[in-house]
Amino acid sequence: MNLNDYDISNAYTARVTESTRITPDNWEAEVRHIVLEFPEDDFDFYEGQSIGVLVPGPHDFGNKQHLRLYSIASSRRGEGSIPHAISLCVRRCFYVDEVSGERYPGKASNYLCNATAGDQVQITGPYGAHFKVPEDQNANMVMVGVGTGVAPFRAFMRNIYEERGNWKGKVRLYYGAKSGVELLYRNEFNKDMGLYYDMKTFRAFEVVSPRPAFDVPPPIDNLLEEHKAEVWEMMQAPNTYVYLAGLLDVAEKFQKAMVKLAGSKDAWKTKRAELIQQGRYAELLY
Ligand SMILES: Cc1cc2nc3c(=O)[nH]c(=O)nc-3n(C[C@H](O)[C@H](O)[C@H](O)COP(=O)(O)OP(=O)(O)OC[C@H]3O[C@@H](n4cnc5c(N)ncnc54)[C@H](O)[C@@H]3O)c2cc1C
Repeated sequence: MNLNDYDISNAYTARVTESTRITPDNWEAEVRHIVLEFPEDDFDFYEGQSIGVLVPGPHDFGNKQHLRLYSIASSRRGEGSIPHAISLCVRRCFYVDEVSGERYPGKASNYLCNATAGDQVQITGPYGAHFKVPEDQNANMVMVGVGTGVAPFRAFMRNIYEERGNWKGKVRLYYGAKSGVELLYRNEFNKDMGLYYDMKTFRAFEVVSPRPAFDVPPPIDNLLEEHKAEVWEMMQAPNTYVYLAGLLDVAEKFQKAMVKLAGSKDAWKTKRAELIQQGRYAELLY
């Protein structure tokens, strides 16, 4: 959906209560865990949804607004002990002008990453109803993500292991980042995902970009192929739900790996169509 088509009438003023850098200070990529608190307990959402952030104007080129979406990294019960709070996992972005070659800061991500505790930000939403945890606790989940795409999975894990509990289906996270320190929620700055390693039904696998090419997207296709027996077995189960999240490259690589695992393009096309038709395949790509 085009960003101009989002309904922004549901707007809130939220207050930043925490902004913690979760990549090293001396590392080029800056990703922050940002907590926003709403004045009242009236912001209802569930895991897998996103919020819109409205950057205050004026904007270039006569644009009326600058809206960008961010995945909610918290479960519906809120963040920490606060029910009317949510967290976001935001990467500070830049874009390069194709004509001048100059590098400009991305408006929304810099607006969020520059905000400090006490600042107010304009939020809209929540948006997205397709990326959600299965009702059945026996369901398997295959979660495939890169970079900040881990945010909705953090929310999923909180929901199934901390709130619902007793999750019986197999839960697998295949996660890629450009470097070890960019394995978000799995590095020395924030280890939230580590909380689930002891869960009997959870396993996580990771891959980083091939050295020395830190700028090449992580080969998530190789990671899936390394674990092909289990991945493909899970794909056959009638109660497996598949989720892809993060930059578009993750979907391209996922499709590439699945074609190999299925044996042919047509075989994967058929399997994917079946998953989609049964509501067991969801993408959250940007
Ligand atoms: C449903 C949805 C959920 C999203 N969730 C998140 C999230 O949880 N965390 C997050 O950081 N972003 C997320 N994004 C991306 C976010 O909406 C913005 O596109 C991004 O922050 C850049 O916006 P900007 O205004 O700062 O810069 P812009 O001026 O819009 O663009 C800056 C440049 O950054 C590139 N870019 C955008 N996002 C990323 C990224 N995450 N990593 C590397 N390069 C990127 C763009 O392709 C563009 O070239 C999500 C997008 C969608 C559609």
